[in-house]
Amino acid sequence: MAAPVLYIVPTPIGNRLDMVPRAVDVLQSVALIAAEDMRHSKPLLTHFDIDVPMLPYHDHSDERVVSRILSVLGGGESVALISDAGTPLISDPGYRIVDAAHREGYSVVPVPGACAAIAALSAGGLPSDRFCFEGFLSSKAQARLQQLQSLQDETRTLIFYEAPHRVLDSVRAMAEVFGAERMAVLARELTKMHETIRRAPLAELADWIASDANQQRGECVVLVQGAPAQEQALDAEAARVLQILMADLPLKQAAQLAAKITGLKKNLLYQAGLSLQSD
Ligand code: SAM
Repeated sequence: MAAPVLYIVPTPIGNRLDMVPRAVDVLQSVALIAAEDMRHSKPLLTHFDIDVPMLPYHDHSDERVVSRILSVLGGGESVALISDAGTPLISDPGYRIVDAAHREGYSVVPVPGACAAIAALSAGGLPSDRFCFEGFLSSKAQARLQQLQSLQDETRTLIFYEAPHRVLDSVRAMAEVFGAERMAVLARELTKMHETIRRAPLAELADWIASDANQQRGECVVLVQGAPAQEQALDAEAARVLQILMADLPLKQAAQLAAKITGLKKNLLYQAGLSLQSD
């Protein structure tokens, strides 16, 4: 008999056609489906002819729920974890189950599929080579401001989930902290009829959201371009080292040696040396 597996199964974030065939196969094959909200998931499962016993699960479920899932795996049968929409564990419950399954030595297998953060990033037109998923900001204005301030110098593209009734206040707070001109994207109602992807500097994006009540409805992802990388600065000590070396060495060699001593970039020291020479 095949070893039991805990499958992490994504479901669509709006468009049922995004249900991947492997997700259907896996859900039809398992002995138990742990679901965030059984009533919410039932119509989707029925649509795909999935008739498997279900167990409600959320991150505050008591130990007995996790034990029940482990005991099914212990009996040699596989379990699937789903959430209301998208990929479980991404701002959704499931971490405790996955953690427990690993601790007990069971295989945990992901089925890749819909995820609002990745869909927004892929179509938003902001740098996607490095990004940082922040999930939901605090609903309290002061705590939200502090969270944003802690991200002020983050150079990777930031991804936030936001509730529609808070999106305007959040984008305004982002403009205040990150600057009016920082590029951002509102990705709303992805894969649904009113899908909207709007890219604009933060202040302009906030004004646009404020001017159209429809932009404060539905489900939202907000992307914000990262801060520009800080230029390395030549501090007083590095300038002193460079000047001492320049007194006895050609600039190129002085910059090379100063770079080794200070850890700063050779080119930065060379450029600083040039301007010292011209002073
Ligand atoms: N696990 C889900 C995922 O993989 O994206 C996210 C679940 S989280 C509880 C729900 C939030 O995801 C929404 O409030 C919204 O910020 C974002 N979201 C989900 N579906 C979306 C959609 N179709 N368009 C835009 N954002 C969406």
